[in-house]
Amino acid sequence: MKIPLVDLKAQYDTIKPEIDAAIQDILDTTRFIGGPPVADFEAAFASYCEATAAVGCASGTAALHLALIETGIQPGEEVITVSHTFIATAEVVRMCGASVKMIDIDPHSYCMDPAALEAAIGEKTRVVIPVHLYGHPADMDPINEIAARHNLHVIEDAAQSHGARYRGRRVGSLAPLGTFSFYPGKNLGAYGDGGGITCRDSAAAERIAQLANHGRAEKYEHKIEGFNYRLDALQAAVLGVKLRHLDQWNARRREIAARYTELLADVTEVTTPQTADDVEAVFHLYVVQVPERDRVTEHLREHGVMVQLHYPIPLHLQPAYAHLGLHRGTLPVTEALAERCISLPCYPELTDEQITHTVSVLKDAVARVLA
Ligand SMILES: *Cc1c(COP(=O)(O)O)cnc(C)c1O
Repeated sequence: MKIPLVDLKAQYDTIKPEIDAAIQDILDTTRFIGGPPVADFEAAFASYCEATAAVGCASGTAALHLALIETGIQPGEEVITVSHTFIATAEVVRMCGASVKMIDIDPHSYCMDPAALEAAIGEKTRVVIPVHLYGHPADMDPINEIAARHNLHVIEDAAQSHGARYRGRRVGSLAPLGTFSFYPGKNLGAYGDGGGITCRDSAAAERIAQLANHGRAEKYEHKIEGFNYRLDALQAAVLGVKLRHLDQWNARRREIAARYTELLADVTEVTTPQTADDVEAVFHLYVVQVPERDRVTEHLREHGVMVQLHYPIPLHLQPAYAHLGLHRGTLPVTEALAERCISLPCYPELTDEQITHTVSVLKDAVARVLA
């Protein structure tokens, strides 16, 4: 049995008539940029996220860049985020001429440790970007409280957590700005690149929309310089269809996670993910910690279970961030997780049989490396 990490074809098969009709509509009008599909999706996504407004854009990275510009960050100022994330979270900081400070995560949620945030704030700090990693929201109440006390802007990087809830509220509504990726493999994925920004303030949404579209007010009237960071109509149409299924898909992801955790309960060498009491996670990834991770990974792949590592090298130890001068030992929780994490196959169409098979191969792998 071969089990992929994600199976987008299996998902397409379940919604083919809806997707094909939505795409055909765009082809019939040949209106590929802007127009009702984009506006409709933005309104539906804002409402889904319990935000005032949402702006579609080209990618999760573009969303982060636009949100960071909206904070007014200036060259020489500083942004605090985690090292345990995808590089996009940090990349955009340098695009604004600012510098990034990377801090450690909480060992239970794998998200930003609020105590580490408080300790890292300096003279130049202006913005904090917590990441809702693997579909589990960061601990936003203390993060917002610390940020408010120090006059910092907060951007939620919600690229992996569409639909997750923290103390009853959806991610994307927990700070003034939230950013999303619609990369195909994300919980809400387009059929190409896409991203979005949720806003608490409709004036911010207007400024961001203008920036994403060459600073345009009218077609050839440019109030400011901007970017070509638009979400295209085909992607918006696909996303509009898929958004209607998202809650059901997320519920299935939670079911899969619960099943994995139950089947792995007696394997003391494997650490399963924890969900905080006041959180509804959406399991973009189901990440376990194992000893001898590289050998376990090799065994799983050799037996057809296509696991991945998120992420094997923390950002602060990447060559791209050598200039930060952070050496091994600086962020111990992040570094330990990077050495032990494996992401098991987790997507709504995964069958119970595939889950059982994955667990049995994992148990074999662990028994073998420890023998
Ligand atoms: C996927 C991802 C991004 C970047 O999104 P793209 O759409 O690939 O540009 C940013 N942050 C996190 C945490 C992600 O997982």
